[in-house]
Formats: sequence, structure tokens, C-alpha cells
Amino acid sequence: MIELLQKHASALPGIWAMDTARYLLAAGLVALLLRVLAPTVLKHRKIQTRDASAADVRREILSSLRSALIFSLLGFVLYIAAREGWVTIYTGFAEAGPVYLVLSLALMFVAHDAYFYWTHRLMHHRRLFGLFHRWHHLSRTPTVWTAYSFSVPEAIVQGAFVALFVAMVPMHALALFIFVAVQVVRNVMGHAGYELHPAAFTPGRWLGWNNTTTAHDLHHELGRYNYGFYFRWWDKLMGTEHPGYPAKFEAIVAGKVAAEARP
Ligand SMILES: [Zn+2]
Ligand SMILES: [Zn+2]
Repeated sequence: MIELLQKHASALPGIWAMDTARYLLAAGLVALLLRVLAPTVLKHRKIQTRDASAADVRREILSSLRSALIFSLLGFVLYIAAREGWVTIYTGFAEAGPVYLVLSLALMFVAHDAYFYWTHRLMHHRRLFGLFHRWHHLSRTPTVWTAYSFSVPEAIVQGAFVALFVAMVPMHALALFIFVAVQVVRNVMGHAGYELHPAAFTPGRWLGWNNTTTAHDLHHELGRYNYGFYFRWWDKLMGTEHPGYPAKFEAIVAGKVAAEARP
């Protein structure tokens, strides 16, 4: 065990830097976008009337950096498992072609959505909430920096998915890269505080099966409903979607009414 850790230790700083950089980059870019567009294009797209405080943002950034460190330790375990041949992370297309890459990536998103929904609902159980999930809900008005704002136990639950999935499904390194990139961008968008999705994401329209910023924002504001990550499927199936969500999303993307004046 100690020998294995020593043998691969040189990879750890790089893995940590990647996990930390992807959070800072995704959150930083969306924060910049909001700063530029909030007074004009996104003027009526602020979801809550309330503003997060500077102390909220400080807590979110510090705990997100802690989560990135935990993710990198879990990533390090996955790296060792791959290098030792216990799990398969491959490069090139000799054994499996691009079709497999696309299908395995799609399966990974569907599986992650289910994993997130059910672990999230479990963490809302009154016996588990305090230890696992209360920290994330300190952010009643989410910001782009809320994305990885987890307690240590929740960060372990959230970070374990990739290793658990790769233990079962061989993955191309490029597919894993795309997965973590999309995951962090969707996560940051879900907490942005401004609705960033176009009207095509309205429930019933062609992209309406996807979640939006408004959907997850409602989860933070109310502390219940809308437990899903990428898709609305599980919330619809289990009857946990906020009944007022479609109308609220529609009103926000119509873009004519500021948060203060909305019913
Ligand atoms: Zn929650
Ligand atoms: Zn959240």
C-alpha cells in the first residue's frame, strides 16, 4: 500500500492542480460573464431578490477548494488503479472506436444523474442532512462559487462517482476529460443566480428535459424539491419537482419582469 502510494506520488500535484483549476476556471469565467452581462442582457434574469453576502462567497470558495483537494485524492486513487491495471482508462481507438466513446460518455451522464439524484435525496434525510448536506445549503442564494461548496463527507460522496463508474465501465481518457468539464460547467451554471438557459429549455419545449439554473436555485431557496442534476427525469418520475417551476422559468426567460416585480 505505502509502496504503491510512493510509486505514483509524483502524479498527485498535477491531479490536484487540474481539479482546482477546473473549478476556478469555470466559476471565474461565468462570474466574468455575469459581471459583463448582468446590467444588460441578463438584466431581468436574476432569480432571487436576495443577494449572497461577501461572507457567503468567501465560505463557498474556501470549501470548494477543500472539495477540489478531496476530489484530487479520489482521482489519485483512480489514477493508481488505472496504472496498476485494476480499472481501464484507455487512449487511442485500437480496441474501441468513437461510437463506444460517445455511448460510454452518454451512459456516464445518465448514471451520474441517477447517482446524484438518489445520494442527494438520501442526504436530505433528517438523520444524514446535518453531517453531509447542511453545508451546501448554507448557500440560500447560490453564486457561481457554490458549485463545490460541500462538507468533507459530502465531497467524498460526490467525488466517488467517477471511480465507481470507471470500475464498472472502461472509459477513454478523452471521454473522462469531457465528463468532468461538462459536469463542472453545468454545476456552475446551476448555481449562477441568473438564468443562463434560453427559452428552448422551458418544460415541454425541445430542450425542456434538461435542468436549468432556476430549477436548482429553487432547491436552494426552499431547501426541497428539484433534486436532479442534468435532467428533470428523476424529479418527474418521483414527484419531487417544484410544481411552480415551469411557470417560474417561463416568466424569467420572457425577460420582461425584474425579480422584485415577479409574483
Ligand atoms: Zn440539497
Ligand atoms: Zn446546489
